[in-house]
Formats: sequence, structure tokens, C-alpha cells
Amino acid sequence: MVVELNTYEAKTQEIAQELIASTRSKKNILARMQEQMRWDDKVLDWAMSNPGLRVQLFRLIDTIPALQSKTEIARHLQQYMSDESVELPSTLKGILNFTDANSFPAQTAAATMTKAVESLAYKYISGETIAEVIKAIEKARKDGIGFTIDLLGEAVITEKEAHSYLEKYLELIEQLSAKVKAWKRQEGIDLVDSETLPQVQVSVKLTAFYSQFDPLDPQGSKEKVRARIKVLLAKAQELGTAVHFDMEQYQYKDLTLAILKELLLEPKYRDRTDIGITLQAYLRDSYQDLEQLIAWAKERGNPVTVRLVKGAYWDSETIKAEQNHWQQPVYNQKAETDLNFERMTRLLLENHQYLYAAIGSHNVRSQAVACAIAESLKIPSRRFEMQVLYGMGDQLAKALGKRGHRVRVYAPYGKLLPGMAYLIRRLLENTANTSFLRQNLANKSVEELIAPPNLPATPSYEEAGDMNNIPHTPHPIPHTLFQNAADTDYADRELRTKAQQALAKVSDALGKTYLPLIDGEYVETTEYINSVNPSREQEIIGKIGLISVEQAENALKAAKSAFPLWKNTPVAERVAILQKAADIMESRRHEINAWICLEVGKILPQADGEVSEAIDFCRYYAAEMTRLDAGYNYDVLGETNRYFYQPKGIAVVISPWNFPFAIATGMTVAALVTGNCTLLKPAETSSVVAAKIVEILVEAGIPKGVLQFVPGKGSVVGAYMVKHPDTHVIAFTGSREVGCRIYADAAILQPRQKHLKKVIAEMGGKNAIIIDESADLDQAVAGVVYSAFGYTGQKCSACSRVIVVETVYDAFVERLIEATKSQNIGETDLPSTQIGPVIDSTARDRISEYIAQGKTESNLALSMDVPTGGYFVPPTIFTDVPPEATIAQEEIFGPVLAVLKASNFDEALAIANNTDYALTGGLYSRTPEHITRVGQEFEVGNLYINRTTIGAIVARQPFGGFKLSGVGSKAGGADYLLQFLEPRVVTENIQRQGFAPIEGND
Ligand SMILES: Cc1cc2nc3c(=O)[nH]c(=O)nc-3n(C[C@H](O)[C@H](O)[C@H](O)COP(=O)(O)OP(=O)(O)OC[C@H]3O[C@@H](n4cnc5c(N)ncnc54)[C@H](O)[C@@H]3O)c2cc1C
Repeated sequence: MVVELNTYEAKTQEIAQELIASTRSKKNILARMQEQMRWDDKVLDWAMSNPGLRVQLFRLIDTIPALQSKTEIARHLQQYMSDESVELPSTLKGILNFTDANSFPAQTAAATMTKAVESLAYKYISGETIAEVIKAIEKARKDGIGFTIDLLGEAVITEKEAHSYLEKYLELIEQLSAKVKAWKRQEGIDLVDSETLPQVQVSVKLTAFYSQFDPLDPQGSKEKVRARIKVLLAKAQELGTAVHFDMEQYQYKDLTLAILKELLLEPKYRDRTDIGITLQAYLRDSYQDLEQLIAWAKERGNPVTVRLVKGAYWDSETIKAEQNHWQQPVYNQKAETDLNFERMTRLLLENHQYLYAAIGSHNVRSQAVACAIAESLKIPSRRFEMQVLYGMGDQLAKALGKRGHRVRVYAPYGKLLPGMAYLIRRLLENTANTSFLRQNLANKSVEELIAPPNLPATPSYEEAGDMNNIPHTPHPIPHTLFQNAADTDYADRELRTKAQQALAKVSDALGKTYLPLIDGEYVETTEYINSVNPSREQEIIGKIGLISVEQAENALKAAKSAFPLWKNTPVAERVAILQKAADIMESRRHEINAWICLEVGKILPQADGEVSEAIDFCRYYAAEMTRLDAGYNYDVLGETNRYFYQPKGIAVVISPWNFPFAIATGMTVAALVTGNCTLLKPAETSSVVAAKIVEILVEAGIPKGVLQFVPGKGSVVGAYMVKHPDTHVIAFTGSREVGCRIYADAAILQPRQKHLKKVIAEMGGKNAIIIDESADLDQAVAGVVYSAFGYTGQKCSACSRVIVVETVYDAFVERLIEATKSQNIGETDLPSTQIGPVIDSTARDRISEYIAQGKTESNLALSMDVPTGGYFVPPTIFTDVPPEATIAQEEIFGPVLAVLKASNFDEALAIANNTDYALTGGLYSRTPEHITRVGQEFEVGNLYINRTTIGAIVARQPFGGFKLSGVGSKAGGADYLLQFLEPRVVTENIQRQGFAPIEGND
């Protein structure tokens, strides 16, 4: 691939040689000796020398500021460093040699390590207070270097925090402006070619202005953010301060650019040139973004500054894309990022009359390219500056300044705890094998360091034609692992438009009648019910015909007669039907999402996860059945033994409304692919979505009589089918009360019945999340809010108890309440909604009774206002809940969260286990010992550590519990299909008259 940068290559080399010499200048012996003695340097050194140690050290550093005593720090130090991946350097071995975390040596080790982490942090963080940061920038100014200031504190999860972020910035610029009045303007910093530049510049993050910033809700996010940044921009203008907008994770990029571009075209802001935007060259679409920004700037008529960086979130972007099976938004190869950075530098600098450039890099080669272009094009100093991060490129900054360029240092300030994410990013960058800084430290040869980025001449690069099309090469997932369907990435505008179009289309198709399907025919019924939108109870989603007991009998008869043929249908044919169904579901994804959203009141991203799950169920069970169909042979001389499976017969599937598509599909296709004739009886409130499943399976080729759609009253036709002597399997998901009744009814042998029935029942939980002292509270608060109030607490996996150890109880509860308060409650087809209604009026009343009960047994800490017109229940938090309280023991299935205090981790675990249920559980902790212990001692079917407890993925997290949470094997797991099958063994004696074939004897 030819990239036209050669014009500047000779000059680039010359400048790079010069810069590199300055960054490698020899230090005097005393300075080196002092450095050798410093623990923070040792930590960095160790991290670079041993990959296992690097991981554990960074994890420990991340945890230390959260710990509240030296004893805990000592304990964590020992636990992290005793991991088997770690090769301990002798100095560390020495200080770890204690047995009691309360002992003097342990306390000394803790103090040493804390000091090391603090010194390390304040290498990259310019101070804790504004006064300290002012000192740091005054020092930089003495070296001829300007500044931009960033306030640390990244995860804004509550509106209170978003307001405080704005307030703190207003305070910051006021204080800085007052301070700079005493400063003399300095050529090359705030005086350039006789033009005065703002003396103060701050860098801000757009998402921090609104806690619910969400690409799925561009309008709502835009309104909130605009209102707040307008306040900042007005103050900044009044005080002569420049404002630069950082760029964060990829999912926010398009919305960030859209908001800023729109705002800066408004007359009030159109002539302001003291505002900046950041672009990240590691993004595959960043070059186009720059082209569009240039076009926009031409239209605007006044430049803004574009800070060009490579990007700080490569690891997390890569992980997120891989986990979601999305295209990786960042390049795969470091050389690709470097090359794109150079292309973008050139494009930006060649358009200097429209946009000012700020080149942010610590890579000498990358900066040299910029210098070479800027110097060749004689770009005026006002339009071009270089930038480095505080503590990352001090030598380089000085060397660039010496060449006569304007240089600015990005100086973050704030406390270590909120600054941890920033610190870890810097440590990763400093110690990554590919990073320029590390390679320079390792004294790699100058020629190699400053060589042009080299892309191998592989066919994929040749085919790509240009850098915008370099193919994404995902990390290979072993082919033995199941490949899950990808959820919709709602950050993609095109997909968002499709989702909205589907919602509109489905809204136009409401109110139709859906009839039962019996023996391949849609049949009329005498009774009908309306399925309504829980967000707007007046809105009828569809009218459903309910079958009578006679029709249930007909359906069972039809199933019985279809069974012999279906049983003998080759597995490959049954499997092909499931695969086709999965493809249809994928092609109708947005439409199905819309039906789920409207019929059961679920917001689109969660409906979308359900459709992925249903697709996965089809494909996974298809693959599983193919595996099982091979059976097992165990042959010995003279005897063959064949182990194989046959279907049980007739399966009755009784599905719930809370996962109307995924669970109903999963249970149904499991029964079908194993060769059973299946009757699907959905919950009444989700019958329209169930009718769509049947529509899809029929289209995919399920023969007449093999699948029947039998909506009806659970207590009448449901019970009739459960008790019927021809029923073999009942697959049920729903309440404990109904599940237990089905289990009991199915156990009774009916007249004519010649088999025992199999019951698979998934019934519910009283799921707890434990928060210990070491937990990352940003992560824990957000995770608990999502787990407790996602789908209004109506997932069987939802968190309904959070058990917090007392050392962090108050801090956690305060943020939990604020974060929940910041959630938007509303109709689920509004993009701003996070919490919707509950399913129907019965549920609303039942949950309200629990809330009344909760008020008598604990402290009501939060009850939110809710809209009218739907089945809304106020999201409610109770604190100081006694472990034995009703609201801490009974499943509520709604937006009610009980917060319990535990004196320590052992007590928290005991409280968590003290219920009738064992479905899901969670732990937020960075204590290795606690993480190990919950794996063994937390009695739940699905345990989630440092993540939400909802959203199990087929094959990756097969789902289901034990105790009174259910009976049967996990859905989406390797044992599930066995429940629909009878295993058989056929043994044949193949000896005749003492003769049997013996291999090799012919
Ligand atoms: C003043 C300033 C402001 C900044 N503001 C922001 C900001 O708003 N948003 C932001 O995200 N970052 C920002 N950064 C951080 C910046 O992204 C990193 O410091 C920078 O990417 C490091 O690049 P480098 O040229 O210094 O180092 P180099 O070592 O040359 O390059 C490191 C870059 O290569 C990428 N990389 C590493 N491995 C691979 C691979 N296998 N495939 C593809 N790429 C790879 C890394 O992700 C990183 O971006 C800012 C930096 C500065 C100096």
C-alpha cells in the first residue's frame, strides 16, 4: 500500500535524530543513583520485566487507594504477589516475608508500597489541589511550555456528580484566571506573532456533563450536555479561557462530534477559535472524521483546534469489540495506527487555514513527521502546536520547544482514587511492549525507532487499497467454542435508524388477532384476551385466541400422531430447521425487538439481547444435537455396544413473559431438535411475541402437528396439559408457586400413563450482590443499579439484595441512591428510558404491597416519581434491611432493592446464602481471597464477579439455579438437551460359532 508521506521523509529523519538525542541525554550519576533507590521506579521496572508481575502489580495499584487500613494493604500485597504467574524480584520477596498482616513488618511493607504508588501516581498527575497544579504549570512555563488542565474523576454515574463536574470546572477556571493575571505574557506560550492567546486552557470530557450520556438517546443526551457546556463556554469566554474537548471511548465518538459540530455552528459560538476537539488516529474511521471536520470548518469559516492523538483506550476497545462480536473499531497493528497518525497529521497540517493543529504524541517519529511538514509548509506558529502528557514526555517537550515550536503539556490533577483509571492508562502505555516510550527506554536502535511505520505486504493490505479499509482481524476464538450472535451496536447511527423505523412499522401493525395453531391450522376460539402495552395500558398490542380444554386435547392428539415421523426425521433435517429459524430471527431482529419492547415493556437494547439469545439457542442446540446424535460406541472383540438417544415424546413448554422471545424459543427448539412434538403455551401477557416465534419456526420448515401454539389459561389448559397422560416433558419457567405445583402434578401417574414425566422448572431467586471494602465503587454502583433495575427488576437473575461491608456501606449507599435517582423512568419505546413499567396491574399491586411491608421493617431510602398511564412502580431502595425481613427473603420481581449491612465479608457471604434460592449471585471485590472463596462458597447457579448479574449468554454462561430456584440442567449448557432424550444402549454379540471379525487377522 503506498502512502504518500515520502516527500517529508528526509526531513523527518533529520528532526527525529535530533529529538531522540535530546530524549536520551545522559543523566548525572547522582540522579541515576537516586532513581535506583526509588520504589516507584522499581515498580515500573518490574512491570516491564515480567508480564505476570505487571498484571498483578497494576491490579494491586488499582486496589490500594480503596483500602482503608495498612493491615488490608498488607494482606492484598501478599495475596496479589503470591499469584503463581508472578516471578518475585528479590526486593519484593524480602518485604513480603511476614505471616501476620497486623505485624510490624507487614505494616512497614504496606507503608512502603503505598508510598511507592503515590509517588508513581504523582509522576503523571500534576497535583491533588488547584494550588499544586498551579505550581506545576508555573514550572512548565519557566521551560517555555504552555498547559491544558484536566480534572480527574472519570466515571460520572450520577447527576449530582455531573453537576459537581461542571461546578468544579467553573471554580477551576475562576481560580486559574485570577492567578494568571499576575503572569507576564510569554512569547511562544500566550503571545504568538503578536497575537495574544488564552492564558488558561482546560480539557473536559463531554460525557461527564450528563450521567446518562447514551448514543441510543442522542437527542436527550444532546439537550442535557448542551445546556451544561453552554454554561462552561460562557464562563470561559468571560474569563478568556480556552476549552478543549477530549475524546473518550468509541461508542461516544459520533455523538460527541455531532454535538460539538452543531453547537459550534450556532451564531453565538461560530466565531470562537478558542475551542478544541480531539480525534484518535487508532480508529479506523478517524481519517474520514477528519475529512468531514475540515469540510465543516470550511463551512464554519473560523478554525477550531484539532488535537490529534493515537488514542488511550486500545485495550478496552479491543476487549469490548471481541466480547460483543463487533468489528474492532481500532486498528489491530501498532504500525497501522502510526501510519494513520502520520496521514492524518499531514491532512490536518495541509489544511491549517481551516483548522489549527495540536499534535499529541510522545513518539519522536510521530512528532518529527509533524515538525517536518509544519516547517516545510511554513505553518504560522498560531496554527500549530505540539502536546505531551504530564510526566510522559518532559524531555521531548523541551526539545520540541528548542526547535521553536509551541508546546503544551496536558496536566491532570485530582485525588488518586478518582484518578486511578487515568493512572492505569498511563502505566499501561509506559510499559506496553509496543509503546514508543518503552522501546526508547529499552534503548532500541535509533534507526529502528524512527523508521517509517511498516505494513507487511500481505494480500489483505493490498486488497484493502487504502487504510480506511484494512480488514478487521479478530482474535481467533478456538473453533471448538460456540460463536454467539452479536447484539446491535446502538452507537452505530445506521442501526439506530433501522431500530426506530422498525418501531414505527410495528406500531402501525398493532391490534391484530393471533390464533392458536393446532395440527398445522390456525383455529378460531371462543375466548379472546387483549395483550396490552404495559407502558400505555390503553394500547392493545394484539388480540389472542385462547384455546379450550377440547382444543388442548386436539393439540395433544395431533402431536401424538405427528411424533413417529418427527422422531424418525434425520437429525440433520431437524438441525437445518433450527439454523434457518436463527437466520430468519437475525433478519427480523429490529422488528422482533420492537414487538418485545411494546408488548412486555422492555427497552430496545435489552430486547435486542434477548433476540441474540434466541438465535444462540437455535444454533447452539442445533450443534449440540449433532454432537449427541453421534452417540458412543464401545466395541470389544465379538461384541458391539451402541449408546444413543431417542426423543421422549411430547413436550409441553410453558414460557414466561419476562423473556418472551428468548426463553420461549430456547425451551421450544430444545424440545423440537431432540425430536419431541412440542406444544408452546406462553404467558398470556406475552402471547403476541410467542406467536412470532411460531410464525418463524413454521416458516423455517417445522412440519404440521410437530409444533403447536396453544395460548390459554394456565390454571385450566396449562394444568390439563401438564396432567395429561400423553405428556412426557414439561419445560417451565415462571414462579415458584406454579413451578412447585407443576412438579407435584407431573409426579402423579395418570390412568393410561406408562411413563414418568420429566419436569424442567426454572423458578426464580432472591439474588444478592456482595460489595466488599476493596470493590471499585464506580463499577459496583453502576453494576448494582443495572442488575437491580434493568428491565424494572423483572429478570429472574435480577439483584434484589445488595450486601455491603460496613467500611464502605455509607459511601456505597449514597452513590447508589444518587445513581438510581439519575435513571430515566418512562415508556420503553422512548430512547431515553432506562426503567420502564412492570408487566401488569396484578404485578404492580403485589409489588406495592411488598413496598408497604418494607416500610415497616426497614428504612425507605429512595422512592422515585413515576409516570401515569402505564403499570409503573416507583423504583425503591430500602437500607439497613434485616437479613430475615420479608423483603430480604421473598422474591418480589420488581424494582425494589434491599440494602443490607454486614460487619465483614464472612458475614456478608452468610447472609447471601441464607435464602431458599440459589440462582444468581454477584461479588464486587478486588481481594483475590474473596474472589476465590465465593467461587466455592456462594451457593448460586450463576456467579458473576465484578460485573452485572444479568445478561447470561448461551454457552458462555449456561443459566439456571438449584435449591428452590429450580430443577433441571442449565439452559444454553451442555447438559440441557439430555433432559428431552431417553438414552439407550444396544449390545450385540457378533460372534457366530466362535467366529468374529478380528482386525489384522485376515
Ligand atoms: C496532550 C494529549 C492529550 C490526549 N488526549 C487524549 C484524548 O482526549 N483521548 C484519548 O483517547 N487519548 C488522548 N491522549 C492519549 C494518547 O492517546 C496516548 O498518550 C497516545 O496514544 C500515545 O501515543 P504515542 O504516539 O505517544 O505513543 P506510541 O507508543 O507511538 O503509540 C501508542 C499508541 O499505539 C496504539 N497501539 C498499541 N498497540 C496497537 C496495536 N496492536 N494496534 C493498533 N494500535 C496500537 C496505542 O493504543 C496507542 O494509541 C492524549 C495524549 C496527549 C499527549
